[in-house]
Amino acid sequence: MEQDIFCQIAEGVIPTTKFYDDTWVLAFADISPLAPIHILIVPKKHFTSLNDLGGKDEGLLGHMILVAQRLAKEHGVALSGYRLIINCGPHGRQVVPHLHLHLLGGRELTAEMC
Ligand code: AMP
Repeated sequence: MEQDIFCQIAEGVIPTTKFYDDTWVLAFADISPLAPIHILIVPKKHFTSLNDLGGKDEGLLGHMILVAQRLAKEHGVALSGYRLIINCGPHGRQVVPHLHLHLLGGRELTAEMC
């Protein structure tokens, strides 16, 4: 089965600008940034969407959020503020079928999504 693009990034097949890497997650620059800071926090294990997570994955989800918080601090937007988004499914406008958390910041975001 062909791997999704984020699995390929996690395996180093597709190059990216990496900001964080550990056993569980990888964080890298979004290729089409919607804000001055637009980073994707992606689990290395494949989950198609948030719908695939269960109770045993609470730790992973918490870890993803804490990595986002750490990156917000490192990129100087912790105090100015930022937004975390997980798109899920067609109505959520999820395009890449691999769970990911968007970290957006560096400008005042609108009341809409971005
Ligand atoms: P979503 O709509 O939540 O599925 O968002 C997918 C995000 O992945 C979009 O913001 C894309 O710009 C981003 N994206 C797609 N391909 C790549 C890539 N090769 N490297 C970095 N970001 C990507």
